Amino acid sequence: NLFNLLQETKGNIRVFCRCRPLNKEEVLSGYQMVLDFEAAKDGDIGVITGGSTKKSFKFDRVYTPKDDQSDVYGDASPMVISVLDGYNVCIFAYGQTGTGKTFTMEGTEQNRGVNYRTLEELFKVAGERKDEFEYNISVSVLEVYNEQIRDLLATSPSSKKLEVKQAGEGFHPVPGIVEAKVGNINEVWNVLQVGKNARSVGSNNINEHSSRSHCMLCIMVRAVNLMNGDSTRSKLWLVDLAGSERLAKTDAQGERLKEAQNINRSLSALGDVISALASKSSHIPYRNSKLTYLLQDSLGGDSKALMFVQISPTENDLGETLSSLNFASRVR
Ligand code: ADP
Ligand code: MG
Repeated sequence: NLFNLLQETKGNIRVFCRCRPLNKEEVLSGYQMVLDFEAAKDGDIGVITGGSTKKSFKFDRVYTPKDDQSDVYGDASPMVISVLDGYNVCIFAYGQTGTGKTFTMEGTEQNRGVNYRTLEELFKVAGERKDEFEYNISVSVLEVYNEQIRDLLATSPSSKKLEVKQAGEGFHPVPGIVEAKVGNINEVWNVLQVGKNARSVGSNNINEHSSRSHCMLCIMVRAVNLMNGDSTRSKLWLVDLAGSERLAKTDAQGERLKEAQNINRSLSALGDVISALASKSSHIPYRNSKLTYLLQDSLGGDSKALMFVQISPTENDLGETLSSLNFASRVR
């Protein structure tokens, strides 16, 4: 099957490229699509950069705007399920604001995304294996904003701020983080809502705030093999990254500049880590950002990573689209 094929050819990092549909305004303004999906089935995408010039990119998967949430989840599912077999897994969505990162990960109530589908399938498969394994599943939800980690499940403001400086060894992503035990998908839904609501507290514009912070869901799995008593622990990270767009010159000051620099720093750190892993470098620079520090035991070794590179279809966003596709090609 596809998953095994990719596994053999690509080591442990996969890149899926997803393009959102034109939105109403774009249709009304008569914007042109600059993407060529003719060979999308083979993982090829072309970007028309002007006139008759086209730049091509190859990924493990390319989704056209017509592909839906279940198409996307179906391809990610084998990797997701491997967390029940003891693998650490990391899935992120990268791209310019407005390209569908949150749509892919969170989705909407009618059109649920990777996060919900993941948990739903984990409970389903865990149930099917209940005669052989006992699984305990718990989740943590956190946010990284301006290189500060906030625990979105903490109830008191004083316990919200977290530090990872002294971490590194243990299993928990961050010492002191709230870990919510979940026994079924309804409990998960509630926990995700708590996290989501906490995210907007203290920000006057939730959409703006969320596009400038990384939202990270950590699913922790403890498995006990009922035949021999062996137990394993593993983690699955689901990350909706901050927008990768460059700052407009007019905004290049004050708080906005600081946010942009922090985002830029952490996304480059992520790119550096993944490309160091892809090239089998002996030094992996995990310590250059909170993001990579948090993910360190889920990136590299025998863990599995999947990056969604999200793009816009229109001529307007051509510059950002090329920059995202170049970023994603570098890590592959
Ligand atoms: P981001 O998180 O990258 O800023 P969003 O996920 O908020 O982007 O997407 C921007 C808008 O586009 C939202 O209204 C979202 O519902 C819509 N959208 C994104 N991707 C798709 C898709 N594949 N199909 C339908 N609507 C989409
Ligand atoms: Mg978003």
